[in-house]
Amino acid sequence: MRVIQQSLLAWYDTNSRDLPWRITSDPYKILVSEIMLQQTRVETVIPYYHRFLESLPNIKSLANIDDQTLLKLWEGLGYYRRALNLKRTAQQIVNQLNCSFPSSAEEWEKLPGIGRYTAGALGSIVNGEQTALVDGNVKRVYARMFNIELPVNEKNGEDAVWDIANNLVPAGRPGDYNQALMELGATVCLSRNPSCSICPVISHCKAFKLGIQDKLPARKKKKSVPQRTAASAIIQREEKFLLLQRPTNGMLGGLWELPTVIIPHLDLKYQEIEAIFDSQLNLKIKIIKLEASARHAYTHFKIHNLAFSSQLIAQDSRERLRHPYKWIDKDQISGFPVHVVQQKLFAQLFDSQQKLSLQ
Ligand code: SF4
Repeated sequence: MRVIQQSLLAWYDTNSRDLPWRITSDPYKILVSEIMLQQTRVETVIPYYHRFLESLPNIKSLANIDDQTLLKLWEGLGYYRRALNLKRTAQQIVNQLNCSFPSSAEEWEKLPGIGRYTAGALGSIVNGEQTALVDGNVKRVYARMFNIELPVNEKNGEDAVWDIANNLVPAGRPGDYNQALMELGATVCLSRNPSCSICPVISHCKAFKLGIQDKLPARKKKKSVPQRTAASAIIQREEKFLLLQRPTNGMLGGLWELPTVIIPHLDLKYQEIEAIFDSQLNLKIKIIKLEASARHAYTHFKIHNLAFSSQLIAQDSRERLRHPYKWIDKDQISGFPVHVVQQKLFAQLFDSQQKLSLQ
């Protein structure tokens, strides 16, 4: 086992990528990077990381930021709940821990939005604690090295990987070891066509010996991703149009969008869609015509979002709306955090001045 650790660390010392969060020991910066890296590729995170730290250079500035500015900084990075939880974590560190960062993975895991993986990363990298972590890269590397045949996207398989990870993480340089494992998975032990010939642990890899690298890790096939359809209303009043804020406790919470409802399918009559706006949002509208259409694939579903020019027909509708709302000018939109499907709609609508002359 010791040989595996030494081989990986030696490889990491000469092959690790030059990433901005690796040249700092500031717990705040490492915390920000680890939250951004959840479910997100390194190349995507880097520009967000720099921009975020320029605006919010320390834990106090994050704890005091308003949600809208925060979400705007996060716009396009996805999984927006991460940003709101990160702020809550900052507030707890500032207000309850007197600006002291947690001293162990166990303490990190008590904070909002920090699960077992992130706690392991922070405990080992920030605190130098001998604690493991398991992410998709680690699952792939260990499943191959130790020929784990159980599906790693099910509890038994994941537990088997965690057992190995807990046994292997060394007392010395645990943070570097964990990062070395993830780095190996990200750059050498790739999902397809792993570069075994340059792998530092090739002599310990059971999958390589058996020639079954491409068959591991085993995964249980997931059900097909459901497709949702949404309708958005473009409602103008003078030069302004109506934006609603999504509930902060739901998906894409706190972001702004055209008034939007989920509809059962594309073949509804306009009157049927209008009735859904009324029942879901308390918004009485008359749909004029289809103006734009955008698609996006989230992890758990795909969405097809149609946008219709519409007229507000009940004078009191805006008083009864179920969500916070604003009437805004077209050029104010860039000041609002907006999720990606609606960004695609706005791009189509704003590309053509004509399309905004709806009434
Ligand atoms: S030898 Fe190949 S399959 Fe095994 S850990 Fe290295 S890169 Fe992955």
